[in-house]
Amino acid sequence: MPEFKTEPIVVPSDSGLLPAGERDRRVALTSFRGGDSRVQVPTREVICYECGSKSRVPSAALSANCIHCHAHLNMADVEIRPGSRRLTVRTLGDVHVQPDTVLSHLSVVCRHMEVEGRVSGSFRCSGTLRFCESTRVGGTISARRLVVDKGVQLELGSGAAAEEVEVYGQLSGILQAKKKVTVYRGAVLEGNCKCPDIEVRPGGRYVGNDSY
Ligand SMILES: [Zn+2]
Repeated sequence: MPEFKTEPIVVPSDSGLLPAGERDRRVALTSFRGGDSRVQVPTREVICYECGSKSRVPSAALSANCIHCHAHLNMADVEIRPGSRRLTVRTLGDVHVQPDTVLSHLSVVCRHMEVEGRVSGSFRCSGTLRFCESTRVGGTISARRLVVDKGVQLELGSGAAAEEVEVYGQLSGILQAKKKVTVYRGAVLEGNCKCPDIEVRPGGRYVGNDSY
């Protein structure tokens, strides 16, 4: 009697998810292809703050899940007000610290951040981190662009790393910049600065030693 074997209905896979090839085939079968009438949802590229991988998400979305590590990604903008007790912020949106806010041990991961209050802690921004109020930051700072406004004294307790740094006020501490540091007229940069390109404009001052 010939042996009868059925085909497995479920495609075996360790993760419980469909293998990539099978998944893509099914997605292709069920995806709508309307040629020119196809609706293009505007998307933006985000970097997951948990695993560091890039994903594309709809621009208007307020939250999403990382396609790599499935972490929940908050995309809303966050306001930190005076009297706020919130100490941890994780968002792909922007953070604004309002004037008269005083907070230490604040931990922020976001896109752009504007600091008008006196806050300390650690800040990681994929975009611009701008200080509009004098403060001493005890934790580490990392940003694509770090800006210290005119009249602002920023003291770095544990140092800062950025691609570009623009100093219009006073910045002191250990600074590491991948691309460029610009010290503008009337500004002072004090401390140890590691950067391949430090430009001190006329009227600006750089006190310290660079490692290049
Ligand atoms: Zn992730």
